[in-house]
Amino acid sequence: MHDAVIVGAGFGGMGAAVELRRLGFDDLVILEREDDLGGTWHVNRYPGLAVDIPSPTYSYSFEPNPHWSRLFAPGEELKRYAAHVAAKYDLRRSMRFGVTVTSARWEDDHWEVVAGEETFAARYLVTATGFLSMPKTPDIAGIESFRGEVVHTAAWQPTDLRGKRVAIIGTGATAVQLIPGLAREAAAVTVYQRTPIWVSPKPDYPVPAVVRKLFARLPFVQRAVRWFGSAVLELMMISGVVHYRQLRVANRLAERWCRAHLHRQVRDPGLRRKLTPDYSFGCKRPTFSNDYFRTFTQPHVSLETSSITHVDGSGIVTANGRVDIDVLVLATGFDLWDVNFPAFEVTGRDGRDLGAWWRQNRFQAYEGVTVPGFPNYLSLNSPYSYSGLSYFTTIECQMTHMRRLFTAMRARGASGFEVTRRANDEFLERMRAKVSRNSVFSLGQCATAHSYYFNQHGEATLLRPTSTIGAQRAAGRFPLSDYDFLTDTGTAGGPADRPGRSTAPRPAGNPAS
Ligand code: NAP
Repeated sequence: MHDAVIVGAGFGGMGAAVELRRLGFDDLVILEREDDLGGTWHVNRYPGLAVDIPSPTYSYSFEPNPHWSRLFAPGEELKRYAAHVAAKYDLRRSMRFGVTVTSARWEDDHWEVVAGEETFAARYLVTATGFLSMPKTPDIAGIESFRGEVVHTAAWQPTDLRGKRVAIIGTGATAVQLIPGLAREAAAVTVYQRTPIWVSPKPDYPVPAVVRKLFARLPFVQRAVRWFGSAVLELMMISGVVHYRQLRVANRLAERWCRAHLHRQVRDPGLRRKLTPDYSFGCKRPTFSNDYFRTFTQPHVSLETSSITHVDGSGIVTANGRVDIDVLVLATGFDLWDVNFPAFEVTGRDGRDLGAWWRQNRFQAYEGVTVPGFPNYLSLNSPYSYSGLSYFTTIECQMTHMRRLFTAMRARGASGFEVTRRANDEFLERMRAKVSRNSVFSLGQCATAHSYYFNQHGEATLLRPTSTIGAQRAAGRFPLSDYDFLTDTGTAGGPADRPGRSTAPRPAGNPAS
């Protein structure tokens, strides 16, 4: 039996593996359905791909990279960074590629993870399958009848667009990166926008060689840059969003900043109006770009805002007429709530199905990591897990949570853990109260945002509605009494948490911390 199965070899899965190794668990299996590591940075290859969070922040704090070529590094550098981390922390030997997990089941004292014909047994299960891993094909009538080339941004194939008429559906963060490049190559570009996006200028400068040398020699300088960048982002992207009630002014400033950016780049008031969101900043993920808005002022680029009625063999039809095209680019994002929570069937204690349980009882996970009824399971892409600042902040909070949890478990001579229902319920209530009392999601104008932050019940359950510092503090200090530590894995938690169960529970000593 393995110590742990980790599903996903992106940065989340690699962070969990680094932490488990530090904790002394060496027999890890990391299962990845793609043919290499890197997660989103392996899969996404569209032109213009880059981080939209400054690179010193968008990286592990314990593995700073002094070699970023720009403040916002291009996608291939992230992929190289992932390979470097895997090599340095010796993770590749645990990785199995081209393995698609279809289900996982708790079997009294361990997890059985099924991938096709193979079954992996492990004491602990970690899922790190990402939020944005299931590309969404829009449900548009006739799309399958289009005779030209159709490509989703998450399955990009190098294509010669010179002289071609290109349509792109979607104006999310991916489209914002892609559209300027498409416009440089194609003969005509039509952008089909349903919901405009808030776009801020991007301070995207090359990092001079001398600064890179300085970062390499004096890592604290890069740490200071990371700290400064994170503080600015926290103020702009988090404070005015999760603390909207208290810091509405920060939200308004962010909106004004984006409006001024649009105003500088687009002189035509009609076009500007079309590109201006009618929902509050932060209801959906904003992004950064210096050339997105300007692209729409070029004569061969059109912005179409009337709804698509259908696609036919050679073009797209809207109420405004039809446009003949050669290539259709789907920048239509990802399915989240329907297919990714969880990404495959996870069955816990007493046959509890995680997906069904989430749908019947609200989306929830204690500290965005553990779920009652699912012993020895860490679900890294859970409701309320994402800190919003940088995915790496989320990953590192989860690593801290794991460290505290496993250290306490061992100190009690235990080999298993399960979050108590009480702790989970309290956490859920606290998060829900914060969302409804403080955040832009309930106090701002989000109705027209079409944001994936909201689940199918209209609840904003993706982002953790606390400051990043609050998330970090909670990860390092959560009460250990929130867990039952199991001396004999599979033994139930406290009776109060598990009414109606007849087996006598045998939790290990569990002093409150
Ligand atoms: P997205 O934000 O979900 O955007 C999808 C776009 O497609 C939206 O404009 C959506 O319109 C449109 N769309 C979907 N279905 C449609 C339909 N049937 N008809 C018309 N339009 C349709 O997806 P994304 O742009 O791929 O970005 C996803 C996330 O990836 C981002 O929020 C960000 O977190 C991440 N990302 C990060 C980076 C980075 O550098 N770190 C770069 C790119 C992306 P509606 O809004 O009206 O639904």
